[in-house]
Amino acid sequence: MNNNNKIKIRALGLSSGGLDSILSALLLQKQGIEVAWITFKTPFFSTDSSIKASKQTGIPLIIKDITEIYMEMLKFPPAGYGKNMNPCMDCHALMFNQAGLFMRPNGYDFLFSGEVVGQRPMSQKKNSMNYVEKHSGFKGEILRPLSAKLLPATIMEQQGLVDREKLGSITGRSRKVQIEMAKEFGVTDYPPPAGGCLLTDPNFSRRLKDLMQVQKSYSKRDLYLLKYGRHLRLDDKIKIVVGKSEGDNNRIEKLYKPDRDILIRHAFLAGPLVLIPDGAILTNDSITEIDNIRQAGSICAGYTKTEHGESAKIVVISRAKQSEITVYAQDSKTFQNLVI
Ligand code: SF4
Repeated sequence: MNNNNKIKIRALGLSSGGLDSILSALLLQKQGIEVAWITFKTPFFSTDSSIKASKQTGIPLIIKDITEIYMEMLKFPPAGYGKNMNPCMDCHALMFNQAGLFMRPNGYDFLFSGEVVGQRPMSQKKNSMNYVEKHSGFKGEILRPLSAKLLPATIMEQQGLVDREKLGSITGRSRKVQIEMAKEFGVTDYPPPAGGCLLTDPNFSRRLKDLMQVQKSYSKRDLYLLKYGRHLRLDDKIKIVVGKSEGDNNRIEKLYKPDRDILIRHAFLAGPLVLIPDGAILTNDSITEIDNIRQAGSICAGYTKTEHGESAKIVVISRAKQSEITVYAQDSKTFQNLVI
């Protein structure tokens, strides 16, 4: 077979959109391998950087929403959580598993990622990489081009699909080598390393834990709501989401479901939009529902310019009907214990 008829080797990379993802793909491209990326969507991390990297490099990108399967893993990650609700090792294993399941039927020969040995505290030490590989279900089929020479040869290297000599031996947290490589490849615009995963954020993690432990059942929308405003728990079924800014109010309004939720705001004054997710369907008796609405209304008024203890007119939108009630504005100190 001459070179023109050579079968093209195709590799599928996990993309974070960061410099390491970009360089690992370019290193493979340089030795004639056709590369594509896959990135995963959940309420916890965004696909924006990967989309940007794909546009910049021309490398095709597949986006897959894995929220459901991710939430199953997040309940009991076998390797545990990091400092917050981040199950980094099982998160990586799951992503490689999902990428691997996509790889075979779509004609890719192996997986790769921009991981660098010893770069991150939990997920990129050699032991962690072994764990991830073993639990992904694709042992020996995951190449880390930037650190490959420091790791056992993968099946692809052994079979000669990839030239190991042309791969990297980068280790540790310094970015020096990568920055040099970026210059050589002419890559100038890339996002800063790490960051961006809400599961590493203590505030977000507290809310998520509350949702998973107290509420037991929740929807994808409830997960997205965790990103915005203040969250106050009134009881084991009901919590309220209070916008902290105009941006929050807009996002909360976008996530509002008219057939299920209750929406509350001051009738005249600027202030927060308060959402009671599923508030219109969670309580069977109207007295509890009215109590919840009155409490949420007092809290809402407490965040406006109304003097604490003064009366305030509040608009309540529930089951497509709008009504007005009068409540007393509550001092935020009195409901701090409800903040999640
Ligand atoms: S930081 Fe977040 S996205 Fe990254 S491995 Fe950990 S849990 Fe997964």
